[in-house]
Amino acid sequence: MRKRLLLACAFAGTFAAHAQKLTATEKKIVATVQRNMPQSERLLVQVVNINSGTLNLKGVREVGDIFRKEFDNLGFKTTWVDMPAEMQRAGHLVAQRKGKGKKGKKLFLIGHLDTVFELDMPFTKYTQLNDSTVTGQGVNDMKGGDVVMLAALQALQQNGLLANTTITAYFTGDEERSGKGEAARADFIAKAKESDVALAFESAAGLHTVATARRGSSGWQLKTYGQAAHSSGIFKPNVGYGAVFEAARILDEFREKLSQEQFLTFNPGLIVGGSEVKYDAANARGEAMGKTNIISPEVNVAGDLRFLTEQQKEAARAKMRDIVAHSLPNTRAEITFTDGLPGMPPTPGNQKLATLADQVSRDLGFGPVQAGDPGSRGAGDVSLVAQYLDCLDGLGSSGKGAHAPGETMNTKEFPLLVQRAALMIYRLTR
Ligand SMILES: [Zn+2]
Repeated sequence: MRKRLLLACAFAGTFAAHAQKLTATEKKIVATVQRNMPQSERLLVQVVNINSGTLNLKGVREVGDIFRKEFDNLGFKTTWVDMPAEMQRAGHLVAQRKGKGKKGKKLFLIGHLDTVFELDMPFTKYTQLNDSTVTGQGVNDMKGGDVVMLAALQALQQNGLLANTTITAYFTGDEERSGKGEAARADFIAKAKESDVALAFESAAGLHTVATARRGSSGWQLKTYGQAAHSSGIFKPNVGYGAVFEAARILDEFREKLSQEQFLTFNPGLIVGGSEVKYDAANARGEAMGKTNIISPEVNVAGDLRFLTEQQKEAARAKMRDIVAHSLPNTRAEITFTDGLPGMPPTPGNQKLATLADQVSRDLGFGPVQAGDPGSRGAGDVSLVAQYLDCLDGLGSSGKGAHAPGETMNTKEFPLLVQRAALMIYRLTR
């Protein structure tokens, strides 16, 4: 009987075959999402057409106000978290609702209001390019994702399904260029710690990929020193090899010993060496003067280091320190490391959320979902809370060319991603 049913379904077409895996309630949620779509698209047009580059504080707050009203209408309690004035960031929008029920997970939903496109860059407004593609500043990174999250919650609310759920929606105002200092994310981290699961709506790599892991980022600075002398004496015991050869030795050994490790990358982005060296770390600039007949006494190198786990970061740093320590004759070298964003490792808890996304997607008839390659994603706000709760990212809209003019969003996949998000939130909160 079962066999015959499966066979019949296969012939009936994939959507019919899978749609029956949805409960009556879930079918209602899907129908509500579809009915609301024109309104969700209007909201997306409205927020994309307001410039909200991170440093355009007025624009970021304006976009925040629009989402704030939407969450007020949903019955969420909304607050605006101001940043200290000297940080020069707009602040964050927080929308919360608390349920009494003990069933289901407490959710922390992540979005951001800012984009990489500042006011002094040419403005591109929301434009339809063809039947499945739109462009506009931040349409995919990540105003589309913000609307995916909101539209999913609206569909649940309209079916009375948010009752007794505990949900925090957190929209940061400076994801693309975070404010400096702990205050920038202190409240964000504190609110996440009150939740069980974080879902981040950064852009999706299509319908079939989510992110259970993101790499962390950090920086390093290498300084090498040699004995300044006439070039004719180089390599002689009393003169030595000079700072430039010492820097070259170290960088080449970094490449030989560390470049083939999975998920680990490091890049020397700036190098200055010579007789007189000025290196300005704050502005990422350097100046050097030197002559070919003088052995260089000093070299500065600045680089980054990306990794998946803290262990990988620490192991890489230990190897780099060891390489630095074995100096050429009459030279010396030192390396310092600075922490950036932590990594988000692919934990079993994160994988469970990916499995849920996969199940929901199959039940909707949209096909399988898998965890994508962590090496393809940079660090994000979700990385800051990954050590405290299970996390999944890449649940937002899909498209191409984030962070570049002409970024696009796929409007055909957009309603499907809202449906997937709505059912994931529904199942997680039962
Ligand atoms: Zn983003």
